[in-house]
Amino acid sequence: MRYEDVYRRSVEEPEAFWAEEAHRIYWHVPPQQILDYSNPPFRRWYVGGQTNLCYNAVDRHLAERPDQLALVAISTETNVTREITYRQLYREVNAFAAVLQRLDVQRGDRVVIYMPNMAEAVFAMLACARIGAIHSVVFGGFAAHNLALRIDDAQPKLLIAADAGKRGGKVIPYKAMVDAACAEAASPPPHVLIVSRGLDPAEPKLPGRDVDYATLRAEVGDQDVPVVWLESSEPSYLLYTSGTTGKPKGVQRDVGGYAVAMAQSMQTVFDCKPGQVMFSTSDVGWAVGHSYNVYGPLIGGCTSLLYEGLPTNPDPGIWWALCEQYNVRTLFSSPTAVRVLKKHDVDFIARHDLDALKYVFLAGEPLDEPTAHWINDALGKPIIDNYWQTETGWPALTLLPGVDMKPVRFGSPGFPNLGYRMKVIDENTGEEVAAGQKGVLVMTPPLPPGCMSTVWRDDDRFIQSYFSHFKELLYSSLDWAIRDEDGYTFILGRTDDVINVAGHRLGTREIEECIAGHPLVAEAAVIGVKDELKGQVPLVFVTLRQAVQGDPGTVITEMMQRVTQSLGALARPAHIHIVNALPKTRSGKLLRRSLQALAEERDPGDLSTLDDPAALDEIRRALSQ
Ligand code: ATP
Ligand code: MG
Repeated sequence: MRYEDVYRRSVEEPEAFWAEEAHRIYWHVPPQQILDYSNPPFRRWYVGGQTNLCYNAVDRHLAERPDQLALVAISTETNVTREITYRQLYREVNAFAAVLQRLDVQRGDRVVIYMPNMAEAVFAMLACARIGAIHSVVFGGFAAHNLALRIDDAQPKLLIAADAGKRGGKVIPYKAMVDAACAEAASPPPHVLIVSRGLDPAEPKLPGRDVDYATLRAEVGDQDVPVVWLESSEPSYLLYTSGTTGKPKGVQRDVGGYAVAMAQSMQTVFDCKPGQVMFSTSDVGWAVGHSYNVYGPLIGGCTSLLYEGLPTNPDPGIWWALCEQYNVRTLFSSPTAVRVLKKHDVDFIARHDLDALKYVFLAGEPLDEPTAHWINDALGKPIIDNYWQTETGWPALTLLPGVDMKPVRFGSPGFPNLGYRMKVIDENTGEEVAAGQKGVLVMTPPLPPGCMSTVWRDDDRFIQSYFSHFKELLYSSLDWAIRDEDGYTFILGRTDDVINVAGHRLGTREIEECIAGHPLVAEAAVIGVKDELKGQVPLVFVTLRQAVQGDPGTVITEMMQRVTQSLGALARPAHIHIVNALPKTRSGKLLRRSLQALAEERDPGDLSTLDDPAALDEIRRALSQ
């Protein structure tokens, strides 16, 4: 099978193609119509079909693989590992669903889940799916205010929380944040269900509102809860975007299209077959966590590893030790995580037997070449860059080793995934640009199955945010891209990440890559700041792999020279600041807009998704020197 042939069919005969793909999942009632696109840009896949995500992820495997591991939840924070077979998963999910029913959660009700990477988070998600409730997982690292915003948007019937989480040994009292969020929210849920691991004994209970999971679990016992069959386009879950560019959007996902996209991508993109093992290092609170810690691997009959803890604890070899121990075939992580590991000895990788490991996929932000080379050299396995968004729910640009693996080209996430009609256009004329030319990456609707249906209860925002940038009806989340002669697409960053120096447009990413090529640099962030003379000039913040011996001025001069030599004098940074940490969102994305605002002495804006406030303080100090 050639990629080109399969791809062409997927976009030229989408209905025939997706009709065949539908057979990858179980339908209680088969779809009557494959695609309804009568109301663009909204589209419905598999109209009239009835199915259920939980049934496909759990029940369907009971006959063939009851004793195979479904989920391995490893915590290096609590030092507990739970190995859960499909049969046990069925038990736990049914029990959880029975508890939800006790709390009067019904089809269409929202349930906010605020938990770290622990097995119960997965049980809770699948239990919601089983009874047709709409889950909305909020990343456990978010604080009370973020949680309150999402509660008010989703208006849940129930909030499920862990008593506490742990990060680097430090207890994070989730329940206290839940209390604060409920106090702040305009419409707090009537019940809070607490799954306690005994991490926070001081955690107070609010009588009437708070209920204890273990108590209810014991009361419901081992019940079977019937699956609620949903129409394909009913909402399955809500997930808010990372908020890198502002207020997060409530991405709404469907049931049937998403299930098919998950079943397909496990094989085509991740080449992970039933019985094989996938390890995604994501948090369940992100899009990757939903799709490739929970739904993808389980719908695919695989074993999914879920990891709670730092990548460096007990040592920076922990992920590789797990890959060895569980025969992981497909590892999925992020460039940020690899940059953390890059600060440590490669021997932490080399000492493990990684024969079973076939691929490493990295997604979420640009994969800079130095990082890609480092991990590639250390492992000697294909490092596959993956471009997608919370909105798409699954990879949009990738290589497809399960179909036809093209050679990796560093710096590029590859080719459009099946069903994705993508092009690179001129931002002003809307015309497709020539190969090698920079433009805006867009998708021609209807979007393929799996991608978002709409913004939760805000169809207008769906159209405004994604479909109203150009004359033609095109989807875009405003990323810059170049497609080369051979069809490889390169992502250059977001359209607001461009620096205009004296009329010349420079991508922040080009400068970042250039500086990251310096052997001492761990990570670089480049922003454009206002300049009287040139309009804008690049300003750089870097973190180093190790402290500089001697004068940091020499290193800075070397970095300046690298930029001038490879990108020209125009790209020469006005200043390079060495800092200990860069401000990032909790999902690991650089908050360039905040860096830029601080550098231009403006209000840094919405910082609700900021990971480490200390990083921003340090930037303030660096700027005031
Ligand atoms: P928000 O939409 O709320 O501002 P966000 O865009 O950061 O936040 P996500 O959906 O988590 O939220 O991230 C998707 C974005 O991440 C993409 O639009 C792109 O800018 C970037 N991205 C993801 N994968 C890659 C990749 N492989 N290479 C380059 N950029 C990537
Ligand atoms: Mg976005």
